This record gives sequence, C-alpha cells and structure tokens, in this order.
Amino acid sequence: MIKLRVQGTREEVDEFIKIAPEYFEVLQCSQPYENRGVSKFVRVYMDMLQKPPRDCKFKIQEISKGLWGLVCSECHKIVQCQHQNPKLLEGSEYAIGYGFKCCPYCKANVTEVTYE
Ligand SMILES: [Zn+2]
Repeated sequence: MIKLRVQGTREEVDEFIKIAPEYFEVLQCSQPYENRGVSKFVRVYMDMLQKPPRDCKFKIQEISKGLWGLVCSECHKIVQCQHQNPKLLEGSEYAIGYGFKCCPYCKANVTEVTYE
C-alpha cells in the first residue's frame, strides 16, 4: 500500500485529489489540515493501491472533416490528431498512432490500433 502525504495550496491539493484516481486506487483520503502558523499550505493523507495493468485499443476515426484522431477505448480521450488521410500512411512510421505503447492519459497498455 502507498501512504502519501500531499502538501500544497488548497487548490493544488484539491486538483491532486481529483486526478489521483486516474492513476491509483484511492482507499482513503483524510480531510485537509491547515499547516501551523501563517502557512498558506494544507496537507492531506492518502492511502492508495497501484492499479492493475489495463489494456486499451486506439481507434482511428474522423474527428471533424479532414481531421483524423486517435481515440482511447478506456478513457475516450483524443490522443493524437492529423490532417493526412491515415489510410495513406498505414504501416509507416508516420502513421497515426505509431509508436504508442500506452495511453498518455489513462496509462493503459495499447494492444491494437484499429480503423473505425
Ligand atoms: Zn486512455
């Protein structure tokens, strides 16, 4: 288990608490405690587990006219966009999606890149 003490401004700590579940399984999160004195920082204590590895597929689809994007099947975020027809570059190192081992947003392992 990972036990973490997070310290920062109230906004920074709130932001961390918001995004942490994307990367870890959050078991417990304390209330924010204000630091002593005139400090503007707060701290929270978090108990977390590593998430088991997940797989995803990247789907190549036309996001808008003439603009193709790569969409992650797990987090549904658009990972990469380009204006060239991806069919023309299929299999080349310039192909959309080339070289991705994991999604930069949700960190799932990319097992396949497919066309819609
Ligand atoms: Zn993703």
